[in-house]
Amino acid sequence: MTFTNTMKRTAVRVVAALAAVACTMSLAACGQDEAGKIRIGIKFDQPGLGFKKSGTYVGFDVDVAKYIAKKLGYSEDEIIWKEAPSKQREAMLQNGDVDMILATYSITDERKKAVSFAGPYFVAGQDLLVRKDDQSINGPEDLNGKRLCSVTGSTSAATVKEKFASEVQLMEQPGYAECATALFSGIVDAVTTDDIILAGLASASRGKLRVVGKPFTQEYYGVGIKKGDTKLAVKINNAITDMIQDGSWKKAVADNTEGTDYTPDVRYNPPTPDEGEDA
Ligand code: GLU
Repeated sequence: MTFTNTMKRTAVRVVAALAAVACTMSLAACGQDEAGKIRIGIKFDQPGLGFKKSGTYVGFDVDVAKYIAKKLGYSEDEIIWKEAPSKQREAMLQNGDVDMILATYSITDERKKAVSFAGPYFVAGQDLLVRKDDQSINGPEDLNGKRLCSVTGSTSAATVKEKFASEVQLMEQPGYAECATALFSGIVDAVTTDDIILAGLASASRGKLRVVGKPFTQEYYGVGIKKGDTKLAVKINNAITDMIQDGSWKKAVADNTEGTDYTPDVRYNPPTPDEGEDA
């Protein structure tokens, strides 16, 4: 049987209608835009890590993500960047909104209940950011009676609740940029999260904010993927190993921390991917 023009038109309409239904059900099936592409969750508001800058994306997480995507067979044009705020990362992976997340995303046992991780590809440490002229805070031991800002859904906020809840007043925001604004305006006395994130914010503040420089945790940055996708984890870990071995990792760290006082802790960096991590 041959298709008449009317039958063809009807078929096209049916396919389009099905695509529209699929689109409302799952972002993964949404339109041709995403077909054949890889969807990567990053931060959009963390200078030096994941930062949206007039339609382009820059930072260390972005560079690592591009390197991994290339090894997985995707060109830069085939990457769809999606904003992955701290609180939404597990849900985004569980819902299939993204294929992987590189967003200063610490590997934790709690998160491993919902998602899997490849990596680690970097090790940071939780630290404090204060106003330059404030000499009263020089470590977590000085937080008594202070107001502290961190981000909902982060390990940083969780650590404050666990370790310093009796001394400090915690204010939670959706992102670290909001915390930096609160610090500028005097609403809080300090911001807490990973040292490398704080270094980017301090640098963007043009000398108005300073990182205390006494990290009090270790944050192993992983590549978040759908729970149980062991095959993908192995491929990503191979890519990270290559990136470290061919010098691209070191270059990406240097490029993205340029102009800050930050240097990675060499006791933990570069890390060995897959070190004791299950996928
Ligand atoms: N690395 C920490 C975390 O994954 C803090 C940074 C962030 O919120 O992205 O929770």
